[in-house]
Amino acid sequence: MKYISTRNNKLEFEFRDVFIKGLADDGGLYVPKSLKKYGKEELLELKNLNYNELSIEIISQFLGDFISKEELSSLIKKSYSTFREKEVVKITYVGEIKLLELFHGPTLAFKDVAMQFIGNLYEYYLNKNDKKINIVVATSGDTGAAAIDAIKGKSNLNIFVLHPNNKISSVQRKIMTTVEDNNVFNIAIDGNFDDCQNIVKQMFSDLEFSKSINMSGVNSINWARIIAQAVYYFFSYFKLGKETISFSVPTGNFGDVFAGYIAKKMGLPIEKLIVATNENDILHRAISKGDYVSKEVKETLSPSMDIQLASNFERLIYYINNSDSEKTAEIMEKIKQNSYQIEKKHLDIIQKEFLSESCNEQETLDIIKKNYEENNVILDPHTAVGVGAAKKLSFNDCLVLSTAHPCKFPDATNKAINKHEKLPKELQHVLEKKENFQVLKNTTEEVKNFIKSKI
Ligand SMILES: *Cc1c(COP(=O)(O)O)cnc(C)c1O
Repeated sequence: MKYISTRNNKLEFEFRDVFIKGLADDGGLYVPKSLKKYGKEELLELKNLNYNELSIEIISQFLGDFISKEELSSLIKKSYSTFREKEVVKITYVGEIKLLELFHGPTLAFKDVAMQFIGNLYEYYLNKNDKKINIVVATSGDTGAAAIDAIKGKSNLNIFVLHPNNKISSVQRKIMTTVEDNNVFNIAIDGNFDDCQNIVKQMFSDLEFSKSINMSGVNSINWARIIAQAVYYFFSYFKLGKETISFSVPTGNFGDVFAGYIAKKMGLPIEKLIVATNENDILHRAISKGDYVSKEVKETLSPSMDIQLASNFERLIYYINNSDSEKTAEIMEKIKQNSYQIEKKHLDIIQKEFLSESCNEQETLDIIKKNYEENNVILDPHTAVGVGAAKKLSFNDCLVLSTAHPCKFPDATNKAINKHEKLPKELQHVLEKKENFQVLKNTTEEVKNFIKSKI
């Protein structure tokens, strides 16, 4: 399998480049040159695979000769042995709503599904090639925790995590900052998530710096995350056993929902993907009326979606422009100047696949309250946005991705119902332990200097 950059489809790359670098040198995102498309018969053959078997099947379509099937198989087994659910994910029914619970991994959000796999994939690659890598990642709260858990204590790897200071929940922060392994570094940036993401992007595009520290990224632009996430779309489709399926996906960086789009491109009969946003609704405005102009980031009850620059959207732009990388590069330039309106013909293509809605703060609280009163179930605020969007669109039969455990967001659930869920006992210790993080100014220079001083 070969890959190209969304901004230049002339150069080809291997999975190794895509995985280790995350972002192409030209600033574009990697996408595969072609995709395996399963026919109906072939899909039937996958129907009875368990989660690990299905992961091996789907993920191996993308890895070329990076790893043998046997090694991939043991790596996946190891990755998902850390989950509290045997089948990794779980479908539950809450009144009329169907939820796909994705939060049974070690850090209680869906990010673990891809990140546990990625951590082991790094270890495999670095041991085999005797290399050292520094991972730098920006987080709106959950990616960082998942990445730290996946990387902590592994040899040949350091991880630096940038989170927006005081803008994530305290449980989210504590899960990250109480880890004691000496290859883990937490940085709190005086800014918002988009600032953190920008600093990481700038460090990547400073090739002298990024090469000098062997910098690697595990943000949701990393293709390896997308393919690991595509697996649960397949898995849940087979579990429900209907002809077609639709999903409502709480969205920030457009990573998770894009994985669903890839599953569809691979032949999974998905009818619609609902892009569910909080008040940071750029993706809803874009998909419903073509308005891709970013506004100030607002702090909401669902902080992991407080994003205005959805990095993975570039991949969709590439596909709706018929894999034209020059066109994509032009559009990305417009986005940089914050002046992109999606053309009507492209919007029509997008709306065939996607619907969108956004829920404001009050609506999110109301949904948490209603579900608690009617069904005695506490939803986390991100999941509540997914439920709310489906409801507003009267799309009752869809599967809502439940992206986080409610215990991670006690402030939100306290506000809605004056109750919060307890942390699972494996994680209770983070509430007591000493935290360790460095607050830095919102400049790339400061972060670079900090990293250099630590390695
Ligand atoms: C990251 C995250 C999201 C958004 O996922 P994207 O891939 O960035 O769209 C939604 N919910 C939770 C709980 C998250 O951690």
